[in-house]
Amino acid sequence: MNTSISILGSGFSSLAASCYLAKNGHDVTIYEKNKSIGGRARQLRRDGFTFDIGPTWYWMPDVFERFFADFGKSPSDYYQLEKLSPAYSVYFGEDDKITIGDSLEKICDAFENEEKGSSIPLKKFIKKAKNNYDIAIKDLVYKPGVSPLELVTLKTMGKLGQFVSTIKRDVRKEFSNNKLAQILEFPVLFLGAKPSNTPSFYSFMNYADFGLGTFHPKGGMFEVIRAMKDLAEELGVTIKTDHAVRKIEVNNGKATAIHTDHGIFNTDIVVSGADYHHSETLLPQEFRQYSEAYWDKKVFAPSSLLFYVGFDKKIENVDHHTLFFDVDFDRHAEAIYDSPSWPEEPLFYASFPSKTDRVAPEGKEAGIFLIPLAPGLKDTPELRDSYFEKIISRFEKLTEQDVKSHVLFKESFCVNDFINDYNSYKGNAYGMANTLFQTAFLRPKLKSSKVKNLYFTGQLTVPGPGVPPSLISGKLVAELVFKHLKKSLANQRLSFQ
Ligand SMILES: Cc1cc2nc3c(=O)[nH]c(=O)nc-3n(C[C@H](O)[C@H](O)[C@H](O)COP(=O)(O)OP(=O)(O)OC[C@H]3O[C@@H](n4cnc5c(N)ncnc54)[C@H](O)[C@@H]3O)c2cc1C
Repeated sequence: MNTSISILGSGFSSLAASCYLAKNGHDVTIYEKNKSIGGRARQLRRDGFTFDIGPTWYWMPDVFERFFADFGKSPSDYYQLEKLSPAYSVYFGEDDKITIGDSLEKICDAFENEEKGSSIPLKKFIKKAKNNYDIAIKDLVYKPGVSPLELVTLKTMGKLGQFVSTIKRDVRKEFSNNKLAQILEFPVLFLGAKPSNTPSFYSFMNYADFGLGTFHPKGGMFEVIRAMKDLAEELGVTIKTDHAVRKIEVNNGKATAIHTDHGIFNTDIVVSGADYHHSETLLPQEFRQYSEAYWDKKVFAPSSLLFYVGFDKKIENVDHHTLFFDVDFDRHAEAIYDSPSWPEEPLFYASFPSKTDRVAPEGKEAGIFLIPLAPGLKDTPELRDSYFEKIISRFEKLTEQDVKSHVLFKESFCVNDFINDYNSYKGNAYGMANTLFQTAFLRPKLKSSKVKNLYFTGQLTVPGPGVPPSLISGKLVAELVFKHLKKSLANQRLSFQ
């Protein structure tokens, strides 16, 4: 008889895990609490506009290719990718913008334009970043985080110093120009911590940025979710939406059933791709591995205040991805990590996918605005509105146009929505940060140490936050399940002899 495997959630990690598990002949069912799939990468459609609710940057295309290749497929079997040109631009003030092109040569020119001679250290920096990328993304991140020995290889031995130093220190050593340094520090923000708290080894993110480039799947990031759903269903996975799991039943140290409002479902194995902290609250207390104090001490990636805006005209002087770094970065970072509070003057990010894709009606523009925030902040409609006013006024000044009177509608998403929609711990947006002490084997484990057949996947476990790591996490957890099943089969055979 096939092993029945229940998976909680339908985010990238759960979908990835489901594909690997179903490919191996298991009977896999996904239980998703929301009415639509995709988790943090769901889609919002309104009045002819389409928005990605969560991720908008498609980085590390090789990870997606590797995922689909494991099933004899390629991303192009499901969606069309476009390399963005320019990749993005960054505002530092009025009439002060740096544009990041779609090749290292163009980026070197932009650096030279800003500071003569800066392309020389840039090329050196990116060469080192590429070397780290080859070690990390081709090998290290595909290790399950079971033992510290996974990190000890011939290639990593020479890089120990890079785990002690930080991205900020390395960047500032080479680049005295604050704007160029900030651009080089930006990619590690995806890992959820400050550049001053992220090991230099993570400079592989800079290679992802400048070396590989930024892509856009036609239709938006949700097309990748749709692709993975199609693949999962081709492989035989059943997806049940509107099925919140209320309890994981444990008998004799084994998860035996999951409870939902639509019934109780018996199972041989449970994999949870829901936020780790929440997943453990579905267990009786004695089967939880990590205490509230443990979670409270961890460095979480920021939450966010997001706006999805339909404009009745095309927006000028912006690119598909535009960053607004025209205020003090350190003060905003302090409000996120050191003394959690609403930032006085926030940095923000804006995306206009309708610059390159037909995701808005003709002559109109779809805009997504994101302000990173500390998780756990008080979230009210008044605060959201006041921050919209704050950033949109700055936006008008910097991009030299009136946009307020062209807003057709705006929807927002913030801390309370992350908690209500995803059971997110303190409303974090993208999981637990990759700091030195929250890397690899130091992260919450993929396999429960207290419940024999219970596993976790997703951005709070190994390897960390982001879409590519979530795909990898799904693969890693499936491999652990296969190991477990092989061992139980061997034990069964022994007991029959
Ligand atoms: C605003 C934002 C912007 C981002 N930008 C980028 C980006 O540009 N590029 C990038 O690579 N990454 C980005 N990320 C990060 C990336 O989106 C995430 O790392 C990734 O989507 C996480 O996938 P996951 O499978 O771990 O979790 P999730 O997507 O959160 O999936 C967990 C699922 O579990 C479900 N669930 C929770 N509780 C239960 C329950 N009790 N029963 C059943 N189901 C349950 C939830 O509804 C959810 O569907 C961004 C994230 C956010 C929020």
